[in-house]
Amino acid sequence: MNPIDRVLAEVDRARDEIVDFTRDLIRIPTVNPPGEAYDVCARAIGARLEQFGFAVEYFPGVNVVGLRRGASDRPLLHLNGHTDVVPPGSGWSVDPFAATVRDGRIYGRGACDMKSGIASAVYAAEAVRRAGVALRGSVEVSGTVDEESGGFAGVASLCERGRLSSARTDFVIIPEPFGPRQICIGHRGVYWFELRTFGRTAHGSMPFLGASAIDAQTRLLHALETRLRPAIAERLTAMPVVPPAARRATLNVNAVKGGQFAEALAHQTPCVADRASAIVDRRFLVEERFEGVRAEVAEMLADVAAEFECQYEIEDLIVVHPVMTRAESHIVRTLQSAVQRVTGAAPELVASPGSYDHKHVTRIAGIEQCVAYGPGLLELAHQPDEWCAIDDLVEATKALALAILGLVGPDVNLFHA
Ligand SMILES: [Zn+2]
Repeated sequence: MNPIDRVLAEVDRARDEIVDFTRDLIRIPTVNPPGEAYDVCARAIGARLEQFGFAVEYFPGVNVVGLRRGASDRPLLHLNGHTDVVPPGSGWSVDPFAATVRDGRIYGRGACDMKSGIASAVYAAEAVRRAGVALRGSVEVSGTVDEESGGFAGVASLCERGRLSSARTDFVIIPEPFGPRQICIGHRGVYWFELRTFGRTAHGSMPFLGASAIDAQTRLLHALETRLRPAIAERLTAMPVVPPAARRATLNVNAVKGGQFAEALAHQTPCVADRASAIVDRRFLVEERFEGVRAEVAEMLADVAAEFECQYEIEDLIVVHPVMTRAESHIVRTLQSAVQRVTGAAPELVASPGSYDHKHVTRIAGIEQCVAYGPGLLELAHQPDEWCAIDDLVEATKALALAILGLVGPDVNLFHA
């Protein structure tokens, strides 16, 4: 048998092990927020990697990286998954941390986002080893924390330490749940800001004696809705963002608060609001410049505030620049061939409406060849009764294993059997 067929056979043979390892990981409730059991999960991944011949390191106990050196250090392929999951929330028909298997699916929080992806990465590398295929370059597998809250203590910290860096790393694959037949090449940008308005308090029965911060907030938000939103909705990206409605720039008001809202009481206090605040979420396109996005918001709010004499301030909360790996890059081409070889069909190239750890890989580590590819359905992420199909898990593991061969393995022709 040629190396490709040997590797694919090893993945099939490991099917039950891959399922069991995914279930082991789901049973560790790495809920973020607040960030629980991170060390336990890192150790579970690290122990498996050690068993599979990786040199394992912990940073500083919650992030784990395993390296398996081939004939040389380069090229180096890094497979990264985040270990944290969002809280289960309500509406589950099964225990979210029991990892129940039913009808060919694994159920649980993190089943698709993204403990199945981590298991895929670990077993893709292991299938190559079990097949006895010698690597030309090297492969790394990592489990990192806090992706759901921005990835700053996770992938970003590995990048800042230089563990993920263009000086040593050539390719990065993040097995987020885009499904075994789609390759994600990047994401849109994010600009979150807080819009605060100020007034002067007075008795609620004589509002003419005060100045309402809520009235001011309403005017500014109304301008964002009626002027800015239609203007940005005209802009269409060439990036293959899914769903297609997200190919346009978008604006959302994520939260609003104001006045003396007494949570414990049935009523608010009878006062004119002297403070109000909104969190605004502007998603921008790879064709837009952040400076322009920010200036457009600032100028529009300044105009409206001058017209209605509103006192306000803007504070930037989060800025994430859009990222996109070129469709012609070696990593995309190779993974496309790998998926085609496994599924028999050309995978679709997509981009994500929201951001994920790709941003840190590109912006901090300076690695240009980064994609997301992994088992599970994106639509099920963060939902009750999240699940991953076992067939998808195996299929994605096969494609990742062939991608390892194609990127850092011996010269193989992925296209033909
Ligand atoms: Zn995720």
